[in-house]
Parts: sequence; structure tokens; C-alpha cells
Amino acid sequence: MQPRDLSAHTVYRAGRGIEEVARELGLDPDEMVKLASNENMFGPSPLAVEAIRDSAERMHSYPKSSHADLVEALASMWDADPEQVWLGNGGDGALDCLARAMLEPGDEVLVPKPGFAYYAMSARYHHGEVNEYTLSKADDFAQTAETVLKDYDGERIVYLTSPHNPTGAEFTTEAVRTIAEETDEETLVLVDEAYGEFADSPSKRPLLDEREDVALLRTFSKAYGLAGVRLGYALVPEEWADAYARINTPFSASELACRAGLAALSDDDHVDRSVETAAWAREYIHDELAADTWDSAGNFVLAEVGDAAAVAEAAQEQGVIVRDCSSFGLPECIRITCGTEEDTEHAVAVLNDVIEVVEA
Ligand SMILES: *Cc1c(COP(=O)(O)O)cnc(C)c1O
Repeated sequence: MQPRDLSAHTVYRAGRGIEEVARELGLDPDEMVKLASNENMFGPSPLAVEAIRDSAERMHSYPKSSHADLVEALASMWDADPEQVWLGNGGDGALDCLARAMLEPGDEVLVPKPGFAYYAMSARYHHGEVNEYTLSKADDFAQTAETVLKDYDGERIVYLTSPHNPTGAEFTTEAVRTIAEETDEETLVLVDEAYGEFADSPSKRPLLDEREDVALLRTFSKAYGLAGVRLGYALVPEEWADAYARINTPFSASELACRAGLAALSDDDHVDRSVETAAWAREYIHDELAADTWDSAGNFVLAEVGDAAAVAEAAQEQGVIVRDCSSFGLPECIRITCGTEEDTEHAVAVLNDVIEVVEA
């Protein structure tokens, strides 16, 4: 037998891990710097680590109260009803929840190109079809209402990423409002704020009070440093928030994830330090890297280096892992995650050497 026709589906290729690369190159993993997956430079919140240790003894029970407590904490943080918080197994899991709630077979969605690969994957898993809007490099990947509306054709979900991965560009609240206004009443405008903590500009949260057709995506993977526990959520308008109960898997976030999330939410020091250091690193990379870079509101910087695959590979041989953006359709660009001061300075020095050699 065979599964259903999956020929339109693509396989997600994550940035490679340190152990994997170190083993292959015969390097010491402790000597390597990984700035390829936009992970937190300081690791997880120490309070979250402690919470996971403490909750290890409770792993035999379903995460009933921790799930409810986390939803409650997030609802209060966002001044929303608990029903409006849709927890998922990572932001990716929350994207699945939204696709499951919204898409009928054959419904179309609109995703950015270049952009985050999982939007299209999730839509296809849920029998959706995928169209793209283009962010133009010639225009510095500007994200305006017009960027999206010129390619909009009645899709059921429009995915916006602000700050955008991998370019770092943002949408203004006004642009999102215009997109929501100009698209059909039955079109959901999803604003992915996976990097929202790192941006100076405010969340698009106020739009959820104005409209029924805008939702947000947030994650614990980036600023909170919990990519490994898989915890994220959608914040949806009150009007249809009760749909979650009908499409959700029972306990979509684990006991460990919920405990870690609760602890991380209370760890302002960790988040503040991560956000401040990312702001410093963005500037540093911008100023010191021997390549053109784009302004970024996230914890990463996109840089134009010529042959990205060659630069990324040569840097990796020197123990610095960055993201070759060929898979985003940008074979001349790398994406460098903001590291600690030490790691960022080291990475930029290595990259500058490598860029010079590859260009020569
Ligand atoms: C990292 C990321 C997410 C969410 O990742 P999870 O680890 O699944 O929470 C969502 N959108 C973008 C653009 C991202 O870069």
C-alpha cells in the first residue's frame, strides 16, 4: 500500500546541530559556535530548567493543571480570555491548530516567498493549496499592504511574518489593518510574531479587539530559549476562540513544556538580557561584517555574501555554523543568529576571513 499523494509536500530541513556537524568534521563540539537556527544565545531560562527538574517526578500524570495555569497566565499577559489562547507543540503546532480550524479540503492559503517553510507544509497537511506573495529583494524585502494584496486572490489564510524570517523586515500595524480590511471577511490574517520580543515595535495584539479576522502566533522557542521543549500558541479573536476545543489534541502541550513555559514567563531577567544582547549583536554584525546586511528586528541578520553555500561550508570548517539561505530561494545570502558577545565577535571574524577567501 501507499500513503495518500504526498508529491506536493516538501520535507522540512532544520539547521544542523552542533554534535552532528562536529562529528562529521572531527571537531570538538565545545569549540563550535552555532548561529544557524535563531536559538537563544543564553540557553533556556534558568527558572525553566529548575521547573523541568522539579516536575520530572510528575511525568506520569496528564498536564491538567499546568496546561490550565499556563493558558491563564498567557491570557492575563495579553489581556485576553483564556479561550483565546491556543497552546500547541511549538508555534508549528499552533499553526496546525489554525489550519485544522480554518481549512476545508482545497482551500487556498497565501504565504510569503522567501519565508518560513512550515506555513505551506501545515496547510498541505490539512488538504490546503498554497499560493505565494513575493517579498522583493530589490525593494529590501519591504513588507507593505501592497506587497501582499497584489498577490491576494481570496485565500482563506494569509500568513504574515513580523519580524520576518529570514529578512528581519516588519509590517506596521496599519499595514496589517489594511490587509485585513481589503481581504475577504472569511480570510484569516495570521501575524506570526515568533520574534516579537526582539522588535522595538509593538505587537499587533490591538487588532484582535478591533476585528474577527486577525490572529497572532507566538512561541517560547526564541526569546524564552525553549525551542527543545516545543511550546507555542496562537492568540485568536474571541468570536471563534471556542473552535480550539473541537480541533485540539487532548493536552497538546506537555507537562514539562507547560511547567517550563510558566517559569520562563516569570523570568524577565532572562528575556530582557536576551533581547538586549540581540540588539547589540544586530548592530555589531551590521557594522563589522564585510558584507551587505539588511536591518533586522529579530535575533538574526541576513547578509549577502555571494556564494552562500560556499561561505557557510567554509565557516563551518572553522567551527562557525550559520544558515545558508539557498533553501529560502536566496542562494547569495546567509542568516546569522545573534549570539553572545563572545560568539558574535568570533563568528564575524571567521566569516570575514571566509568571505574574503571565497570571493577571491
Ligand atoms: C521559529 C519560528 C516559528 C516557531 O517555531 P516553533 O519552534 O515551532 O515555536 C514560527 N515562525 C517563524 C517565522 C519562526 O522562525
